[in-house]
Amino acid sequence: MSPDDLKALVRTVPDFPARGVQFRDVTTLIAHGEGFAAAVEHLAERARAAGAEAIAGMEARGFIFGAAVAVRLGIGFVPVRKPGKLPVATIGIDYALEYGSDRLEIDPGAIAPGQNVVIVDDLIATGGTALAAAELLRGAGARVEHALFAIDLRELGGAAKLRAAGVAVEALMD
Ligand code: IMP
Repeated sequence: MSPDDLKALVRTVPDFPARGVQFRDVTTLIAHGEGFAAAVEHLAERARAAGAEAIAGMEARGFIFGAAVAVRLGIGFVPVRKPGKLPVATIGIDYALEYGSDRLEIDPGAIAPGQNVVIVDDLIATGGTALAAAELLRGAGARVEHALFAIDLRELGGAAKLRAAGVAVEALMD
């Protein structure tokens, strides 16, 4: 299935999580066996071309796509978690949201020094989440030069923000 076919499998839910927001819901894409497999295959091709030595995915939907890509390439997966979830000493980063702030944490022992880690998530909007993940992974010694997404909400400028930080962005659809 082409990226255009995949776009038709994404459901748009109006007024979620807040009034006026058009939520792009990948639940319908991952429920479609052929569509999910094709999305993972397209992402895995790009991760392979980027020379990925490990995949990092953000909780929770980044786990779904990221873990599948890692398995496809036979490389490890690094979960980038919400606070307080990992059972070991973590390193974390706080980052601003439109309203308030959030935090991501990783196990620094999951990264080898200089390892080429490619970020995978379902969607990039403002880029705040992916940028925080990139900084966190770099803080643990990773080389982070590529981030891959199923969907890029281009009008929100996230890809440009990541590019400015030295992270190339590719998405299957926008
Ligand atoms: P950003 O930090 O503004 O780029 O937001 C991206 C993060 O929020 C990702 O982890 C997404 O999973 C989530 N997100 C934001 N908007 C949407 C949406 O419309 N659909 C699905 N996830 C979204």
